[in-house]
Amino acid sequence: MIGEAEWGTLLAAPFVGSFLGVIVRRLPEGRPVAWARSRCEHCGAPLRVRDLVPLLSWLASKGRCRSCGHPLDWFYPAIELAALAVALLAVAVDSEGQPWLDCLLGWWLLTLGWIDAREWLLPDVLTLPLVLAGLAAAAFAPEQLTDRALGAAAGYLSLRVIALLYRIWRGGEGLGQGDAKLLAASGAWVGASALAQIVLGAAAAALVAALCLRLTGVRLGPRSALPFGPFLALATWLVWLIGPVFV
Ligand SMILES: [Zn+2]
Repeated sequence: MIGEAEWGTLLAAPFVGSFLGVIVRRLPEGRPVAWARSRCEHCGAPLRVRDLVPLLSWLASKGRCRSCGHPLDWFYPAIELAALAVALLAVAVDSEGQPWLDCLLGWWLLTLGWIDAREWLLPDVLTLPLVLAGLAAAAFAPEQLTDRALGAAAGYLSLRVIALLYRIWRGGEGLGQGDAKLLAASGAWVGASALAQIVLGAAAAALVAALCLRLTGVRLGPRSALPFGPFLALATWLVWLIGPVFV
């Protein structure tokens, strides 16, 4: 049964996605994050209100700028669609009646994963508040607070130790500090007991992605790798939403 809260979440999702797109593009460059983009990035023509409706305006203009006809970047419709997918999955799977909380975490992780995929960067201004948000969200389940506080600490320390071992073994940087802070956030949301599943799930997903890249002809050398953040983000959200696969 879909109630008003669920409908509201679904309707808001593409607009949230549009805003997330602005964050993904502007935050790593240190540009101010205003609510909306205002100009065509090709010809500089100011965008009108009807150009800013998520997904629909992209479809209506067939993906081209109304002034110069230049193909618009697929980036905005893609992240708007991804934000909508997060909301759809949250509404479909959530059994506790808190789809907005699932979406808050999902959209936050989507932003982090997307920035990491583009820039190899997990900004502190997004990871650290996510740790706090996870502990604050434990207010809805006070009995989990200890597990979640432990999870934050264990998440950070475990990846720092792995990174240290990797540096001794390979002499290079395998995991960034950002990954450790992201896993601290994961722990703060799902608790220490589910951390191992997140790391294993993320590693498995990264391996599958690397294999797919190889099959499509992209060669990853021993020194190049995939950013780990998107896979950690995905695994965290799925474990949060569906629950630990094995306890
Ligand atoms: Zn244009």
